[in-house]
Amino acid sequence: MEVRMAEHLGMCFGVRDAIDLALGLTGSRPLTILGDLVHNPDVVAQLDAAGARRARRPEEVSTADVLVTAHGIADRVRLQLREKGLNIHDATCPLVRRAHLALARLVEEGRHPVVIGQRDHVEVRGLVGDLDDYTVVLHEEDLDQLAGRPRLGVVAQTTQPLERVRELVACLRRRFPEADIRFIDTVCQPTKDRQEALHRLAAEVEVVIVVGGPDSNNSRKLTELARRLGRPAYQVARAAELRPEWFHGVRVVGLTAGTSTPDRVIHEVRAWLEAFTPTRLTPTPAADRC
Ligand code: SF4
Repeated sequence: MEVRMAEHLGMCFGVRDAIDLALGLTGSRPLTILGDLVHNPDVVAQLDAAGARRARRPEEVSTADVLVTAHGIADRVRLQLREKGLNIHDATCPLVRRAHLALARLVEEGRHPVVIGQRDHVEVRGLVGDLDDYTVVLHEEDLDQLAGRPRLGVVAQTTQPLERVRELVACLRRRFPEADIRFIDTVCQPTKDRQEALHRLAAEVEVVIVVGGPDSNNSRKLTELARRLGRPAYQVARAAELRPEWFHGVRVVGLTAGTSTPDRVIHEVRAWLEAFTPTRLTPTPAADRC
């Protein structure tokens, strides 16, 4: 099968830097990672094998060194870590930090803070974790909660689809025309690049494969986008999850991957697809090809 790769795909610099920092530290000391460093099962297994421990909350950290992931944390949590006397290694992505600063600026302007994103996502919890009064929205019906707020300041989780974010902001303005609404676009550039590249890719292929772990928000959004663009799309964490029946009669398949997917996994999936011929219905391992 012919495989076309998205122009932008796979691991972003923020996740790559965080993994490099974690692997570098585990080589020299016991380390606890606060939350999921990356939503990819292979990378998590690699970190586990390197001896990294994981904790959900500051109280659970059992080593002198703790790593804050690329998703960032609230200052309250950072203070808790300091009060425990821990050595904090901060892998917060600069683009997540930028979203924190944007939200703080909007609050300083006296606006009610609104985050477009998933309420339970670790990045969103970090964004709103220092605020007493805020609103997280993801769907149009969530906007009802903002009735009666005269000044609103809106940012987005960095991995939300930009189109969807813009639609929600436009809907907010239509719904509350009297409100003073300021939106700062905090969707990160690697996310935008991957979404734009998928638009181009989907126009050229019959099926789209998205490589990304099941918990990876941005991989899920890429899968949803490919389907909205009218292509059958399947998300897999690794090559073993690919199903021959997805490719009946398919000549050209498109390949993209979320920002937490390592190159090695993308290459494995690509090799499977390239070795696959719809008539055989089973993949030919690369080593067996003549
Ligand atoms: Fe940073 Fe964007 Fe990567 Fe998140 S997805 S780590 S914000 S570059």
